[in-house]
Amino acid sequence: MNKTEFDIAIVGGGLVGASLALALAPKWRVVLIERAVQQLPSHVDTDWDNRIYAISPGSQTFLRSLGVWPPVRAGVIRQMDVRGDAGGAIHFDALDLAADALATTVENRSLQSTLWQALAGRVELINPAELQAVRFGADAVQLTLADGRELSTKLAVAADGAHSWLREKAGIPFSLQPYHQCGVVANFDCERPHGDIARQWFRADGILAWLPLPANRISIVWSTNDEHANELKALSPTELAQRVAAAGGRVLGSLHCITPAAAFPLALGRAAKVNGLRLALVGDAAHTVHPLAGQGVNLGFGDAKALAGVLNAAVGRDPGDAHLLARYARSRAEDVLRMQMVCDGLQKLFSLQYPLLRPLRNLGLNLTDGAGPLKRLLMQQAFR
Ligand SMILES: Cc1cc2nc3c(=O)[nH]c(=O)nc-3n(C[C@H](O)[C@H](O)[C@H](O)COP(=O)(O)OP(=O)(O)OC[C@H]3O[C@@H](n4cnc5c(N)ncnc54)[C@H](O)[C@@H]3O)c2cc1C
Repeated sequence: MNKTEFDIAIVGGGLVGASLALALAPKWRVVLIERAVQQLPSHVDTDWDNRIYAISPGSQTFLRSLGVWPPVRAGVIRQMDVRGDAGGAIHFDALDLAADALATTVENRSLQSTLWQALAGRVELINPAELQAVRFGADAVQLTLADGRELSTKLAVAADGAHSWLREKAGIPFSLQPYHQCGVVANFDCERPHGDIARQWFRADGILAWLPLPANRISIVWSTNDEHANELKALSPTELAQRVAAAGGRVLGSLHCITPAAAFPLALGRAAKVNGLRLALVGDAAHTVHPLAGQGVNLGFGDAKALAGVLNAAVGRDPGDAHLLARYARSRAEDVLRMQMVCDGLQKLFSLQYPLLRPLRNLGLNLTDGAGPLKRLLMQQAFR
């Protein structure tokens, strides 16, 4: 293989870029360019990653097809209990879908390193590396690395996150509407068994989610305004554990903080298009969503699966063919828009403080909980 000419160059080796590279590797000459140094897995029991994802059954099937699933340690969500801010509630159970689980929780770092281990020897890995320039041409894309190396590829894929360098260089606009909120994440040991139940509270100060981890631990995401997020981050581990336990009505007894809290800004982001001249956008480079449904990374895996599906069915053709890229864009449009609308709508519905709206939105939760077919439809959409 000529080490400077490729079929597909993926910029960004996060979960989405790395999984896409693995899915394309058997059929194409792929190069993956990642800026950050990749680390080996650390499975020391005390060393937990505070970035936890709930991986949907559909994403699990995709990851299993790549040989990187199941993970070494994972939690299982068998039920989900959602509480409104005035007595409303809705409860989901995997048994209602005749399934074993609604989703599986996994650490970002462990899945990331499993993917990178699987990539070794299958694709050209350039890491760590910084890109300096890109030129999109009718026949190929030329990439220049900061160390002066030049690469040529038929298709460039932007998997370099919400602030994508490649998307910006291609001149694709990205609308970013900040929620003026942060997601505060941390992990805790629980006094009482969590029972494999994910819990979520729509509160006046934001949305609090508790996700079950193995060994009777939980991971939280507290989506809350910037000021409150900073206050939570500044608390001592003991104070934070008390605050989180109290916010959840102490349903799991007292909590003990096992990772420092981190916070990440939340925004609704959408690229004007996900295909361009010899260019495709995947993952956060294409869209970001509010984490209330835990779907950010699942949407990205959906992109990787769809793009790999289109390209792997067209071996022998030019992977940068505009028709193939348009097919990829069409295949993702509905799923992404629907998920963004649902997450954005729920976030807005529960952040409005009109007195009349509170009983109405809680009634809505209760009615949905009691409406069998509607609830099943909702579950089939949310947990596929
Ligand atoms: C702290 C934190 C916690 C989160 N928690 C949740 C959660 O609980 N649930 C959820 O659904 N979502 C969560 N998210 C969002 C979720 O992480 C993203 O939706 C998901 O990681 C998107 O994956 P990605 O591979 O598209 O992008 P990213 O994970 O952003 O990966 C992009 C990769 O590109 C690399 N890169 C960037 N620029 C360049 C460049 N110029 N050249 C080469 N490489 C480059 C980066 O180093 C990175 O490895 C969280 C995000 C953060 C920051």
